[in-house]
Amino acid sequence: MEKALRVLKDRHIKVTPQRLGAYRALVRARGHLTAESLHDMVKKDFPAVSLGTIYAILENFTEKGLVQEIRIDFQKSYFDILRHRHHHFRCRKCRRIFDVDIPLCETLTGGEVDGHAVEEFQGYFYGVCRDCRKASRDAGIRKAERRRTS
Ligand SMILES: [Zn+2]
Ligand SMILES: [Zn+2]
Repeated sequence: MEKALRVLKDRHIKVTPQRLGAYRALVRARGHLTAESLHDMVKKDFPAVSLGTIYAILENFTEKGLVQEIRIDFQKSYFDILRHRHHHFRCRKCRRIFDVDIPLCETLTGGEVDGHAVEEFQGYFYGVCRDCRKASRDAGIRKAERRRTS
């Protein structure tokens, strides 16, 4: 059996060609997609698929624990294949989203906080990514060099 097919069946997701197409596109993207960008990808194989169908598929995948919905951007959600629990960093300069793995403290792994049972949590970090930091550091060095030579 094809791997994508098996993954869906293992999660008790009823297999339809569009669901299979959506799953394959998510795997291919290897990153964080909005419903709109996933829609654009799936449309190549299924021109009739609507954005509403894509939303329904993503909701189903999220419910079944196949994808993780990321709300790091207040304007729109991103979706990510859930291989393992991880957190996200959003760069305010280039707007890219990065995966972040951090060691979890006891509060987070204990399954309970202030008497509440924790079923899920996600960490969102905001700032300037390593590429943008390097770019601005390099620009700083160039500026200093120009000052020295002029
Ligand atoms: Zn950046
Ligand atoms: Zn991720």
